[in-house]
Amino acid sequence: MKILLLGKDGQLGWELQRSLAPLGELIALGPDTPGGDYTRLDDVERAVRSIAPNIIVNAGAHTAVDKAESEPDLARLLNTQAPAMLAAEAKRLGAWLVHYSTDYVFDGSGSTPWVETDATSPLNVYGQTKAESEAAIQESGCQHLTFRTSWVYAARGGNFAKTMLRLGQERDTLTVIDDQIGAPTGADLLADVTAHALRVAQYRPEVAGLYHLVAGGETSWHGYARFVLDLAREHGMPLKVAADAIKPVPTSAFPTPAERPRNSRLNTRKLQSTFGLTLPPWQTGVARMLAEILEK
Ligand code: NDP
Repeated sequence: MKILLLGKDGQLGWELQRSLAPLGELIALGPDTPGGDYTRLDDVERAVRSIAPNIIVNAGAHTAVDKAESEPDLARLLNTQAPAMLAAEAKRLGAWLVHYSTDYVFDGSGSTPWVETDATSPLNVYGQTKAESEAAIQESGCQHLTFRTSWVYAARGGNFAKTMLRLGQERDTLTVIDDQIGAPTGADLLADVTAHALRVAQYRPEVAGLYHLVAGGETSWHGYARFVLDLAREHGMPLKVAADAIKPVPTSAFPTPAERPRNSRLNTRKLQSTFGLTLPPWQTGVARMLAEILEK
């Protein structure tokens, strides 16, 4: 089994390097390696053809949501054209394509968790390019697993929790958005579920399709910040900010170039029942990531 992983050094790509390794021969490329830069799509296409993998995993993306508003062409190249090309190559090779999409394909209305069949209606360029990628993959007719996820974090690199820890040590009050609701999801969980799903797909190809994949439960950015800072306090981290000085504010308090959906809840029943998997509560993964950071 030959697996080609693209976007190898992102939050998710890094964890996929670990979780996919036992499945076969793993060839991992990133924007700095020949054949791994989506701004040179011809080179990537040539690399895919010469490697001729059985599985292509696309962890590369333009994930700077606000920046995408002012560079829509680059966002579309990375988020739509590259996956569309990979889908066409997967179809030609008879390979599987694994792709990741986002809660931002939805407009965030209501409070019911979105299901896979709900109509998409993105509020920003990033979400639009991701919705287009889903459609392109579907239309290509390749065997694929597309996972929509949300609020991804990893212990490696910067993340929301680390920012809150820093601010909690520097300031005596914090204001955090409390009207966007979703589930913080670890890149390690995404990578592990991807490997499990790929195993199942090898003997049950009918599982191909689109799945919502997020950790269990839900919270706001404010609830997430409170959880992180409470745990940090328990670990003995000296914080300037008191628990009751973390103030909830509406999204309108932090205007950004890209509008964000309020309701980012994703219903994961389809994934759990198809693959026989359990998605742990979001707090489990965040606590684990914090333990790694705080014990350093
Ligand atoms: P990251 O931003 O951590 O990783 C994206 C990767 O894409 C990086 O390795 C980056 O490389 C790479 N990349 C950038 N430019 C290019 C290029 N020109 N050619 C090839 N690769 C490039 O994102 P995540 O790991 O968090 O995201 C993984 C997937 O999950 C993406 O599809 C994303 O849209 C989706 N997702 C992410 C969410 C989140 O909160 N992060 C939420 C919902 C979905 P480099 O670092 O060198 O620039």
